[in-house]
Amino acid sequence: MLTNFINATYIAAGLMFILALAGLSRHETARKGNVYGIMGMVFAVVATNFAIAYRDYANHNLQIDAAIMLYAALVVGGAIGIWRAKKVEMTGMPELIALLHSFVGAAAVLVGYNVHLEAQGHADALHSIEVFLGVFIGAVTFTGSLVAWGKLNGKFASKPLTLPGRNWLNLGVVVVIGLLGWWYLATGSIIPLLIATVLSLLLGIHLVAAIGGADMPVVVSMLNSYSGWAAAASGFMLDMSVLIITGALVGASGAILSFIMCKAMNRSFVSVILGGFGDDVAATGERDYGEHREASAIEVAGLLGDARSVMIVPGYGMAVAQAQYAVAELTDRLRAQGKKVGFGIHPVAGRLPGHMNVLLAEAKVPYDIVFEMDEINDDLADTDVVLVIGANDTVNPAAMEPGSPISGMPVLRVWEAGTVVVFKRSMNAGYAGVQNPLFFNENSVMCFGDAKATAQAIVAALPVGVSG
Ligand code: NDP
Repeated sequence: MLTNFINATYIAAGLMFILALAGLSRHETARKGNVYGIMGMVFAVVATNFAIAYRDYANHNLQIDAAIMLYAALVVGGAIGIWRAKKVEMTGMPELIALLHSFVGAAAVLVGYNVHLEAQGHADALHSIEVFLGVFIGAVTFTGSLVAWGKLNGKFASKPLTLPGRNWLNLGVVVVIGLLGWWYLATGSIIPLLIATVLSLLLGIHLVAAIGGADMPVVVSMLNSYSGWAAAASGFMLDMSVLIITGALVGASGAILSFIMCKAMNRSFVSVILGGFGDDVAATGERDYGEHREASAIEVAGLLGDARSVMIVPGYGMAVAQAQYAVAELTDRLRAQGKKVGFGIHPVAGRLPGHMNVLLAEAKVPYDIVFEMDEINDDLADTDVVLVIGANDTVNPAAMEPGSPISGMPVLRVWEAGTVVVFKRSMNAGYAGVQNPLFFNENSVMCFGDAKATAQAIVAALPVGVSG
């Protein structure tokens, strides 16, 4: 009876997760999708609670110690989760997600060892395979996600680590892990499991460290997929249908998202999965592109006064500066003066997919003037002024040339417009660490300062106009 209740609740939770994914796929239904996700999680926690605390239900035995441990973990974990989620800035979301993926990986490793120790070397072949695979995927996910976290928050350099023969190194490690798996299956000894864990931890570090900054969006979604497979592996080890369903959902959807992002970024899916396999472009050194020109906020206001069409291209800097409200006000003022204003959004602008769209929606910028990169790229040549607000890699013409770490990545061709105004604080490179020749073009001017303060100063300098 209790077992039926638990299984039914797990299936209901699985259904809720499927509905959550369906809801999250469109922004009109995303809120509903989130609610389904929360409900699914509540169902899963309630059922797990019963499964653990009433494990010995047949004998009317409540497992007090297990229940106490479960509730203590729930309270401590829940409190930390609420604290972090309330504190995190929108720009810090990807690194938080990367950190959470690392927890899933660590959990899979711990579950694997737990199952191994419980079996005391007498597990059947299927269970041994589950343990070994779970520990392998979990360990790679754990350290890979920690490196991604460090790269995203700037603790580690975003440049790719290019060890000599790195692809052979990865391949060699995978072969050795395979052999250790065979040893583990044959003997059930903990030694091959321990060696494989250490090697998998190192492999996770190396796979992600070898990926350059511009490819990090794909890596984050790929680690999302790995964490799903790690959870599914734990589900098999623990015989827990809800973990298998959720893990498979996360694993498959993360893999599909990674694939779509690779296509959008013109990157090879296999290359990214294999830690930059076949991607042997060395980072180019600093080149002298000549002098840049500067303009004050008042001069930019004058430039905008003469323009008929303006395209705004936001990037990570707009998010950091929280400049979206000032930019929305600037947009209103320009439109009130009868100018054609639009926004061009790069698929990986900012630090998480859809980052710019969320910020602009928050500042109530109308959806119908916000365009995706492919919709707008060909119109940039007919635009009088482009305002690049805290974007860098996503407007870097170096991507169009061979020999750069961002070569091949599609970018917004802002340099084709009449004049390009770049809002940033310095001449520093973007996230990928690649210098941007756009800043030195004849038709580019730099407007230095915090993006929010600059946008506000331009609004203040603009004449209050009425559409004519
Ligand atoms: P970049 O990260 O390339 O550049 C942002 C620019 O904003 C910097 O050059 C910085 O210059 C400027 N900036 C920072 N703070 C401010 C401020 N307060 N005011 C004004 N300017 C500021 O931005 P993009 O959006 O063009 O590119 C995103 C990059 O992030 C890509 O390489 C992408 O691959 C990567 N990425 C994207 C993810 C995603 O899913 N979207 C996830 C992970 C990485 P300065 O310091 O001089 O002010």
